[in-house]
Amino acid sequence: MRLSIFKSVDGLHGCFLFQQENTMMAEKISNNTQRVPKSFFISWEQYYDNLEVEDVACALCGSNNHVSMGREHIFEIRKCLNCGLVYVSPQPTSESLAAFYETYYGDIEAPRSFGDFETHIKHIIRARCPDGGRLLDVGCGLGTFLHYMSDDNWELYGVDLSEKALEVARRVVPEATLTIGAFEDDFHPQVQFDCVTLIAVLEHTKDPRRTLSNIISKLRPGGVLIVQVPYILAFFRLSRRFPFLPRVTFETPRHLFDFSPATLQRLMGECGLEKLVVDVARPYCGQNNWVRMAIWMIKIPGILLRLLSGGRYIYPFAGAIVVHGVKPEKE
Ligand SMILES: [Zn+2]
Repeated sequence: MRLSIFKSVDGLHGCFLFQQENTMMAEKISNNTQRVPKSFFISWEQYYDNLEVEDVACALCGSNNHVSMGREHIFEIRKCLNCGLVYVSPQPTSESLAAFYETYYGDIEAPRSFGDFETHIKHIIRARCPDGGRLLDVGCGLGTFLHYMSDDNWELYGVDLSEKALEVARRVVPEATLTIGAFEDDFHPQVQFDCVTLIAVLEHTKDPRRTLSNIISKLRPGGVLIVQVPYILAFFRLSRRFPFLPRVTFETPRHLFDFSPATLQRLMGECGLEKLVVDVARPYCGQNNWVRMAIWMIKIPGILLRLLSGGRYIYPFAGAIVVHGVKPEKE
């Protein structure tokens, strides 16, 4: 086992990561007990030479008025002075991003493990959608979350950009209806969903408003959208101010945004959702008890502060947040 910080595996967001080299959790979700390769995701570095980038304005309000939060490689992390959205500029062009995500998952042999965050999202789904129905996971990747939901009363659907990932997902969750497609496309046409999950996806998209609007158009009136995103700006700034601390990276240009509770709620509200609720996301990695405990120690104050403030305050060291809302019955 070795410690790495935010380097080779996406999806932890704001915390340390122990890459385990055992396959315990993989065995749990698949009868094919296969080793997770160390090079689980392909590095951006090999793409830098051919990367096409473009300067962008704030995706939430359109303003160009910003302050710099720092820089990684050629990528500047900016905070919009008008609305507070934290975004990356320049960003890879759509063509460069598409080329990268074709090979995003590398040579995958086994799915990621479950963590506390899956349990938390399942709890949210059970509370908001007690009757079940059709569940769509956008950016379903290897099918891990769909598999986790398969013991509940849901008709399962998934969409992902990567055919390689979907090949794994078809083995992991054979009962699900899976399709390849961009998240702005008309995937799964003529199906209306009761619940849609978007876990660690929205921060990767170039046009989150367009992505959300398309997904919400596929929700039935009264349906629920659950969005989980990293929220790491506070860690990022702290690690730059105090160089003796472990360096936290923004994960540019995989991650193009760092939504806050305010900016994500505003975006989801403007896309037509109501009854929005914000929560602190639970830890991603459930494999190692020490890491899990350390992450919980950081998150527990945030969860308590949220409860004490009646849901109004999410502290900046949440690491990741979940926002969920309902599509109105009458538009
Ligand atoms: Zn803005």
